[in-house]
Amino acid sequence: MGTSRRIESIYDQPLWASIQARAMRLQRCVCCGHFRYPPAPICARCLSDSAEWLTLQGRGTILSWVIFHRQYFDDFAPPYNAIAVQLAEGPIIVSNLVGVTPPGDWIGSDVELIYERGGECLLPRFKLRAQPLIDADRQLAYP
Ligand SMILES: [Zn+2]
Repeated sequence: MGTSRRIESIYDQPLWASIQARAMRLQRCVCCGHFRYPPAPICARCLSDSAEWLTLQGRGTILSWVIFHRQYFDDFAPPYNAIAVQLAEGPIIVSNLVGVTPPGDWIGSDVELIYERGGECLLPRFKLRAQPLIDADRQLAYP
């Protein structure tokens, strides 16, 4: 068993730098708008090599989740979860849900991006997003 390590190439170095700056950005094709995640030298949709980096809103929805009860890495003690999040911008990323977990099925839960130290660097993780409350006058109120 070993510890998990990030892989940093020339293509994903801006991604990791943005995470360390707590303002995660994803690579997007200038020609067709398709996101390249993971980052790549050319667009998988139109083959353009032009790209820009877009700062994420930091919001998404859980598409899938699992709890691992077996240890695969020394730095991930079980039980721990893994979630697939569809970002507000469209791409799907895999991460972990931290803090309070929803009762029952997690699919469809709204989450927001946070940054947590994982070993020697910050990692993008998610927590449940506060839901609007309905007050006595039946109007939406946001905590
Ligand atoms: Zn493209």
